[in-house]
Amino acid sequence: MAVPIRSGFLLDLFLDRTCAGCGQRVGRRCPLCTDQLASSAARPARVPFDGIRAGLPYDGLVRRLVVGLKYRGQLAAVEALVDVLERTVRSPPAFAPDLVTWAPTSAARRRGRGVDQAQLLARALARRLGVPCRPLLRRISGPAQTGRGRSARLLGPCFVSRPLRQGVQVLVVDDVVTTGATMRAATGALRSGGAGSVLGVAVAATPDRPAMAAPHR
Ligand SMILES: [Zn+2]
Repeated sequence: MAVPIRSGFLLDLFLDRTCAGCGQRVGRRCPLCTDQLASSAARPARVPFDGIRAGLPYDGLVRRLVVGLKYRGQLAAVEALVDVLERTVRSPPAFAPDLVTWAPTSAARRRGRGVDQAQLLARALARRLGVPCRPLLRRISGPAQTGRGRSARLLGPCFVSRPLRQGVQVLVVDDVVTTGATMRAATGALRSGGAGSVLGVAVAATPDRPAMAAPHR
């Protein structure tokens, strides 16, 4: 007789459940790091572009969590990072999207990591907000951001959007804003696709020295 097995259970056997923030073995979320991130809510990151918000400066704990998720598949970081995203979207003026999507990483990078961290964050955030998450954007050219010079990274990737219902409100998620080029390309593509209002939201931003920033996509 077939025994029903939750796919989540099988996944758990293979995934790294070490918290990228504190190194403890944890379940779906790390209470310690979640609390610590919540207490840093008072210092939102400044992003010098309209229509793009980021929750925190990219340093310390939030940086460890993003790096752990992105490069080591430490999924316990997702819930703590989504707390930051949710708070950032709901903070005044709150944005009420009809759809959530993400800025997809390059196919080569996705193959290398086996995970698109922006997609994971977008799906989890959409569940919190109670709206659908859809793959609306396709990346059409350009190498990954990592390893490119600053001038090349400022040019950023190109995206095209699926055709959208006119006037729909779309939230586009990414992990880190460095130069802002990726997020601006993504929000611009969604507007061209018919979106009435678009907000880009990232967990963190590196406003000070983008040329020195940790690798971004
Ligand atoms: Zn932790």
